[in-house]
Amino acid sequence: MKIVHVSSEQVPLIKTGGLADVMGALVRHTASRGHDVICFLPLYRVIQESEAFKKAQKLHSLAITVGDESLVGEVYRLKLAKHLDIYLVGRDEFFDRTFPYGPKHRDYSDNDARFIFFCKAVVDTLVLENIHADILHCHDWQTALVPVFSRVEEAQTGIQVSARSLLTIHNLAFQGIFPEKSFQLTNLPASFYGIDSLEFYGQVNFLKGGIFFSDAITTVSPNYAKEILLPENGCGLEGVLVRRQDDLYAILNGIDADSWNPLKDTLIVAQYSARNMKGKAENKIELLKMTGLAGDKDTPVFGIVTRLTDQKGIDFILKQKSFLSKNEVRLIVLGKGDLKLEQGLKKLQKQLPEKVYLSFEYDEVFSRVIEAGSDFFLMPSRFEPCGLNQMYSQRYGTIPLVTCVGGLVDTVIDIDENSEEGTGIVFEPNEAGLKKGLHRSLKLFEDKARLKAIRKRGMARDFSWKIAAIEYEDLYKQVLSGESQAHNP
Ligand code: ADP
Repeated sequence: MKIVHVSSEQVPLIKTGGLADVMGALVRHTASRGHDVICFLPLYRVIQESEAFKKAQKLHSLAITVGDESLVGEVYRLKLAKHLDIYLVGRDEFFDRTFPYGPKHRDYSDNDARFIFFCKAVVDTLVLENIHADILHCHDWQTALVPVFSRVEEAQTGIQVSARSLLTIHNLAFQGIFPEKSFQLTNLPASFYGIDSLEFYGQVNFLKGGIFFSDAITTVSPNYAKEILLPENGCGLEGVLVRRQDDLYAILNGIDADSWNPLKDTLIVAQYSARNMKGKAENKIELLKMTGLAGDKDTPVFGIVTRLTDQKGIDFILKQKSFLSKNEVRLIVLGKGDLKLEQGLKKLQKQLPEKVYLSFEYDEVFSRVIEAGSDFFLMPSRFEPCGLNQMYSQRYGTIPLVTCVGGLVDTVIDIDENSEEGTGIVFEPNEAGLKKGLHRSLKLFEDKARLKAIRKRGMARDFSWKIAAIEYEDLYKQVLSGESQAHNP
């Protein structure tokens, strides 16, 4: 099959969150199964300045109509591996910037124009380069207009852009919602600004367009696929998703098991495996040293690596002062995001400087030392489409403490619920739930034999992409052979 992926991040070229990890691993696995894979990404500054880009070849220039303007861009091709090409869509005005979406606490005000330009450039390139994709697979709101523009292109020119299209929702909380006036930047017929199309309570919603115009919609865990059909988690799109329910699928994310492997990870201090955990203890000592926190092997260490947003339940942690003061534990936080949450964490750290360490950086190396060196990993998310760190934690012999939401339910089994298979501690998404989880983890920490057995069990679990890549392949085949129920212009 010829498969085209369109996304706004992908390791190793650009990463701000889990989407990049997922994309990097998915496309590599699909290509290694012999499919021809082409990925589209915006040519951000970090990519332009990377070593990898030096090998890119310019394919063509484009003139893209965005509202009243004709905007010129360039497309480059970069060969990443056998069967795997990256197409980079450049326009310095839009993408030669410090951040992909906006500086620390806000979005760029022209994100509508930037991603409309990107989506249109993708469709034009697919036509210009005669790519004839079997599957056009788009990811999240930044690329959700690609299926819309490609349907319009097909209707207007009679040229098939791709045989079928898919949209994967990696996080429904981000939909690409812009004021009504942004609609004119799409140059779509006025009929597309309606309740059955891109209009959303008087605004334009890119993701909504993608949901209606893609042949299939997928999301990243079975439990999240159920949750988003309900008003509590549907973020206003539950009705639209219910309408497309027959074409809604769930494929659980995998992790890059080669990169996230404690036996091969060169970013941590000492490598280790389930058979010989000596290295894990060394990483713990290194972690304490790096943070300047006092402690030894008998001090329970709780780690967190996360975006600092309401989604991640950081406020539940802010309410655990009494637990932290009463118990001889350490809390190590690596996270970037909301100023308010940073301030809350700083206040906690000021009250308990000998127990809490904070870093508000984006730091890949430190994130791995936290995964390897902590005893417990905290993920008290309010909602979580899939989540990756709970899987990384199990692989690194670190017990995940997670809420009973989204993909966390699909990837962590509670140690009390199933004592034969449990690998983590699962609790309700609120302050009291987290408190209970923390106390349960201290009890587990005292029972060294049980702790060891649970760690080993987590490390033995297979979260690799092998399974998910085959599931996507099967879905592509199914979608290709089935009738399309997507909107047609
Ligand atoms: P989300 O995509 O919602 O942020 P995921 O759990 O799916 O959450 O993925 C987050 C990814 O980003 C993980 O690989 C995590 O280690 C990484 N990450 C998040 N914040 C940081 C940070 N401050 N430094 C390093 N890595 C981070």
